[in-house]
Amino acid sequence: MNEFVHRFDATVLREYDIRGIVGATLHSADARAIGRTFGTLVRRGGGKKVAVGYDGRLSSPELAKACAEGLVASGIDVVDIGVAATPMLYFAVWHLDADGGIQITGSHNPPDYNGFKLMMGKKSFFGPDIQKLGSMAAKGDVDSGSGKIERKNILADYARRLLKDVKPGRKLKVAWDTGNGAVGVSIRAVVGKLPGEHFVLNEKVDGTFPAHHPDPTVPKNLEQLMNEVKRRGCDLGIAFDGDGDRIGAVDGKGRILWGDQLLILWARDVLKTRPGATIIADVKASQALFDEIVRAGGTPLMWKTGHSLIKAKMAELGAPLAGEMSGHVFFADTFYGFDDALYCGLRLLNIVANSEESLAAMRDKLPQLVNTPELRFECAEERKFKIVEEVKARLRSANAKLSDIDGVRVSTPDGWWLLRASNTQAVLVARCESANEAGLERLKSDLKSALAASGVALPDDVSAGHS
Ligand SMILES: [Zn+2]
Repeated sequence: MNEFVHRFDATVLREYDIRGIVGATLHSADARAIGRTFGTLVRRGGGKKVAVGYDGRLSSPELAKACAEGLVASGIDVVDIGVAATPMLYFAVWHLDADGGIQITGSHNPPDYNGFKLMMGKKSFFGPDIQKLGSMAAKGDVDSGSGKIERKNILADYARRLLKDVKPGRKLKVAWDTGNGAVGVSIRAVVGKLPGEHFVLNEKVDGTFPAHHPDPTVPKNLEQLMNEVKRRGCDLGIAFDGDGDRIGAVDGKGRILWGDQLLILWARDVLKTRPGATIIADVKASQALFDEIVRAGGTPLMWKTGHSLIKAKMAELGAPLAGEMSGHVFFADTFYGFDDALYCGLRLLNIVANSEESLAAMRDKLPQLVNTPELRFECAEERKFKIVEEVKARLRSANAKLSDIDGVRVSTPDGWWLLRASNTQAVLVARCESANEAGLERLKSDLKSALAASGVALPDDVSAGHS
């Protein structure tokens, strides 16, 4: 019988990852337990080797060390790739043919947070898989063994793989903002080999994030990049979240291109070599994206929000491209199908470098719809899913035209509005989109009344952003 028994704080085992506040809800003992339980599952599945990487947060090395100890105690061999962006760890799993991977990362969360993203084999490990680690730890249902730890530097191999898909074209001037996040480790090895001129901001990996918060879905975090693009006369600017799995971009005029706008450009590009292919986007994406996929000869598929869910759907359908409003974008036409924002940046450069048009001109030619950003507002955890169900039931009885893939996305002659419950926070998420301002106002008031009937007031100062 094993001595090992461990209980996690109730808040840390989440839908897509494990995440907590270091020293409060997340400790080294949790990291060790994750290693031990996950290692046990890998072994029971016939695996032997797990790759481990970690972001630049101050608490990451210690958590990574404890996690590796847990893995070897379960009999697993660990390949430690050191500080890396999350996609570099995903790459390690493919490249080293590991049986799983664990990235220690707090993504874009405040500096005192940290967490774990896991891969079992080549697939993401989420939802009930994560809950299972909790129940195994509580029961002490783990194996014992003695694996070994090997350090490996895969940066050169990783950079070579990303650069393999770069197409020659006109020389570009590009500003890159790694936001003191983990992409800082790999950015030089990649952009140093690109034609053109490249300016890197906030390259030094620093878990206190001194320049700005590393979340490119919040406009104020892109201000420094916008200024650099304008000051240097760059063709475009690219930004990353703290662990490099989400991308943000600005054109040469310093204007943001949101995830769904970028996806239009990538979809057109991918469909040139994959006519008729299915391209997946989440329920928050603009109607313009789905329409443009059709116009470019593709088959659009709207799917649930959540990078693990999108990745799983993509693998199921063999789709060559998928993405989310949040900036998680997955290429599987010539790449592995995981969300690597640095790779996405290179794919954007390919498009601009091989067009006579600037990114700004491409942006101006996109269908011009008016929409709200992603609106997020707090709602009691135990009420959030019920509210969405109530709204859905009332709309159904009123014969509204709706999609219930994830929450409720209602179509009206003015456009559409969305209401869904966040899987990860006590938050409701909404978005509205119309062809014009008057239509948008009507949609917002439809959304308000739908919420009011469930006793929820849509706050006037709802914040935009990503969890
Ligand atoms: Zn991230």
